[in-house]
Order: sequence, then structure tokens, then C-alpha cells
Amino acid sequence: MPHLKLHIPGPVEVSEKSFKAFCTPMIGHRSQEFKDLYGGIQPQLQELFQTKQRVYLSTSSAWGIMEGAIRNLVQKKVLNCMCGAFSDKWLDVSKRCGKEAEGLSVDWGSPILPEMIDEKLATGQFDALTLVHNETSTGVMNPLSDIASLKSKYPDVMFIVDTVTSFSVVDIPFDTLGIDVLLTGSQKALALPPGMGLFAVSQAALDRSAALKDRGYYFDFHEFQNNAEKDMTPSTPSIGHIYALKSKLEDIFEEGIQNRFSRHARLAQMTRDWAASNDFSLFPESGFEAQSLTCINNGAKPGGRIIDVATFQKLVREQGIAIDGGYGKIKGTTFRLSNMGDETEDTMNQLYAVLDRCLAKLC
Ligand SMILES: *Cc1c(COP(=O)(O)O)cnc(C)c1O
Repeated sequence: MPHLKLHIPGPVEVSEKSFKAFCTPMIGHRSQEFKDLYGGIQPQLQELFQTKQRVYLSTSSAWGIMEGAIRNLVQKKVLNCMCGAFSDKWLDVSKRCGKEAEGLSVDWGSPILPEMIDEKLATGQFDALTLVHNETSTGVMNPLSDIASLKSKYPDVMFIVDTVTSFSVVDIPFDTLGIDVLLTGSQKALALPPGMGLFAVSQAALDRSAALKDRGYYFDFHEFQNNAEKDMTPSTPSIGHIYALKSKLEDIFEEGIQNRFSRHARLAQMTRDWAASNDFSLFPESGFEAQSLTCINNGAKPGGRIIDVATFQKLVREQGIAIDGGYGKIKGTTFRLSNMGDETEDTMNQLYAVLDRCLAKLC
């Protein structure tokens, strides 16, 4: 089978350079060489997270940290903001951890707005909230800085934020926002192989977590902190991922963080323009579109062109490219195109050319 170029919203295409780094020969995870590797990338990770806290590396996908944050921080009750498949599932995960949890949900395609959260937190019932910044299933980017500004009004509520498809795509200054947990995964915005999570935790969250009894071991924030102080991870990590991350950080800083943000903004706009020029409408509410992927409406909402997504996807696959045919309850009534990771104007134009050819075959 020839390799399909991935334009699905994760995993995304991994560069040859990242792969080569991923395949670096193994070292012991308690060796000085490992500590040099881990400690060596901390300054760049802290700059990327915009934090003075240590950035932890977890050998798990993002869900491990999403579940871990619940176990570490929820004592009373958690408010799970729900606006798509990933954020909806976080309510279920909270309950499965045995926590009191309540959902704050909006229609898929709509954003979570700060006033909705304010109203809920004003009840005083909650000591934590979860927010998916960029809801990958709907292509909606929630207004994180407006939401984070509520933190000063509710300092005892732990703000847990998933940035799996927005990290290093848009500016997310962890310390300045004042949020408590910022987490991301390896295989989406960072364009690394799947299997590693990265996260930062506020001092307030570490203090809260210290008082909680049943936080387990594998995702215990204090295990991460204590080991990070010695440039190590609690258990044997995926060392290949850390080599690949080191290589990716070189790429990111060589491009420049601001250039990386503007590249993503430009490419997402190109995809929105491609959709408009082909009479499609967008699924997200206007003004809340993600910068790392585009969720195109195909009948989930009124307006715009409708095609047979499964056939379209198949035609595109025959041209060597994988695109996504919609997630969960909007499968087939939306489709998604990713511009995450290392994509450029050239590679996106190649994608649009293939999409145009396949659209022409459909009618
Ligand atoms: C993909 C994704 C996740 C889950 O990531 P896993 O790596 O499968 O654990 C969580 N949140 C968002 C926003 C995602 O896009």
C-alpha cells in the first residue's frame, strides 16, 4: 500500500526529519544522557507554553492527561463545557472517575461563551471546569482568553484546558491567562507520531492536587513534578518521542513562533476560501473557526452545497490523500480538512487541486 498523505485532523503527516529523530538509538531513562535530553528541551518547551512552570511529558495520548486532570483536581464538582465530540466525552470521563460532574452544552458548531460559564460558576457548586479550546470535531475555536479572564473572579475553580489542535497554532500564554492545566498531544498540531502528551500545571493546581487522595499513580501531577525537578519522568517514557520533540522544537524556533501562527492562519483562510469558491458553507459559527483545520458543512446545517462525502473521500484517497468524512453525529453531513503541522501554501494548493478534480468527477 502506498502511503496516503494525511490531511485528516490527526494524526497528521510526520516529516522525515521528525521520523529520523524518533528512531534515534535508545538510552537509559535514568541516565545522564536522558537528563540532558529532557533538561535540554525544557527552556524551549517553557517558551512555547509561555510558562515558568515545568512542562511535563506523559507517555500516553491526550486522554490520559484529560482523565488525570480530573483525578488530580476535582474534589467537589466539575463543569464540563461541551460543544463537540471531544468535549462531550470529557463529561463521561469525569463521571467514570467517580466525580460529581455537570455538562454545559451548546449545539455542535456553536462556541462556549464566557457568560454561560460565569452563570454556572456563580452557583458556587464547582471547583473545576474543563474546556476544549479547539473542538476538533466541529472546527470551532472557543474564545479562550475571554473565558480565562473569569479565573480572577473564581480563583478556586481549576481551569483545565485541552489545546490538542490549537497548541503552537495560536498564541496561548499559559501563565498570563492564569489557567491551571494546559495540555496537548503529539500527533496533531505538533505533527509527531501519536503516543505522547505534553502539559503544564499551575502552582495552585499542584497545591489542590496535594490534598486529593485518589489521584492514582500514572498521572499523579506530583510524580511528574518531583521527577521533572530531576529532569526525568515518573516511569519509562517513549524516549523516541522526546528525540522527535527535540527535533520539532528546532523546526518551530527556526521558523519563529509568530511565523508559525501566521502560517496556520493563512492556510486555514485558504481552505475557507476554497470552500466558499466551491459553494460550500462552513460548519462553525462565523467568527469562531479553527486555524488548524476546517470543518465544512455538508447538510448538517442549512445552506451551501451538499455532496456524497463517502464517494468524495474515496476519490480523494485514490489520488493519494486522506481527508476526514466528519466525526460522530456529523459524519457525512460535514467533512474536515487539516492544515496542521508542517503544511505550506504549496502542499495545501496540491490538496485543493486534487479536491477540485474529485469534485468535478462527482457531478
Ligand atoms: C484528538 C483529540 C483528543 C484526544 O486525543 P488522543 O490522542 O486520542 O487521546 C482530545 N482533544 C482534542 C481536541 C482532540 O482533537
